[in-house]
Amino acid sequence: MTGKIAYFGKNGKVGFEEHELPEVEPGAMLVRVLSSNICGSDVKNWKTGASLGVGGDKTCQGHEFVGRIERLGEGVTKDYAGESVKAGDRVVAAYYITCGECRACKIGRYDQCGNAYIHLGQSPDDFPYFSGTFATHYYIHPRQYFYKVPDTLPDSLAAGANCRFSQIYYGLEHIGITAGETLLIQGAGSMGLYACAIAKEKGVTTIVIDSVAERLEVAREFGADHLINMTDLPQMADREAAVKALTGGRGTDAAVEVTGVAAAVEEGLHHLAPMGRYVIIGTNTLSAQATLSPGYITRKSLTVTGVARYLPEYLHKSLVFLDKFQHKYPFDNFSSMTFDLNDLEKGLEMVANRKVIRAVVESGDESNA
Ligand SMILES: [Zn+2]
Ligand SMILES: [Zn+2]
Repeated sequence: MTGKIAYFGKNGKVGFEEHELPEVEPGAMLVRVLSSNICGSDVKNWKTGASLGVGGDKTCQGHEFVGRIERLGEGVTKDYAGESVKAGDRVVAAYYITCGECRACKIGRYDQCGNAYIHLGQSPDDFPYFSGTFATHYYIHPRQYFYKVPDTLPDSLAAGANCRFSQIYYGLEHIGITAGETLLIQGAGSMGLYACAIAKEKGVTTIVIDSVAERLEVAREFGADHLINMTDLPQMADREAAVKALTGGRGTDAAVEVTGVAAAVEEGLHHLAPMGRYVIIGTNTLSAQATLSPGYITRKSLTVTGVARYLPEYLHKSLVFLDKFQHKYPFDNFSSMTFDLNDLEKGLEMVANRKVIRAVVESGDESNA
């Protein structure tokens, strides 16, 4: 039996390959991809020819997905939350592996595993061929955390749990936000919206800053308490005064940067209260530069940290959260379009041109595989 793989070529073109489905090693599994979102990093890799992971002239990409177990490797009986799994169950998997051998893994900081990407971005010509989720099938490696999807959670929400939702959830808990605190959210994109809902359920008051009125309105639907529109307040000093006015003159207890704009980091330092905690998530390219006033960190004794990836258990927590609150917040309300696997390039283009927030790739009826 064969499956189909869409791969990224060096020339920014998407190519296709049919391949025999792989034999599954002990501890691994093969899933039928039900739905796969196009993530911002997919678009970046497509445009630049870069790759998360191994890289080369042909790379398998795609990682925000939900799949149905087709082949179970020897010894796989439970997911990483201890739930029994069998062929036919829907699962999601972290997009990286945790080697269990490096120093980060040894102290439980799996999000910083030094070997996280040894399988990602492989060529479709190399075993196990199905190394990205832009394909009919996807191979989940041993030591790649995976979780069974609750029956009541639709594919569209389960696919989004991987990557963005898990990362923001982990980021917020990494700086220990807790009931009664105030949180500044810089950016009302999908991660900022998720942050609003997570903070709300924790009893945290949120202030969201963005420059687009429509995005701020959506933030309100996701539970945001206060909104600051940068277009109305173009001067940082005025935004600082607004945040102070909302926090009894102190500033916020915590802040999260999910703008992807490096200059936002300096502003975050201004809005934080003494002893505030700051997590940077959106700005993750090494080339992004910004000016910074370290004196704010010193004088206010701020804690500044960053989060790339997430602890795998957050993928499970995200499934639970989305399942529980799927009807309370408009998670399924992002402008969404579905593309056939054959039209992957069109979907990438739509996301690149900001024509759609969520692009979903499907590879047709399961029985066609
Ligand atoms: Zn992603
Ligand atoms: Zn490791």
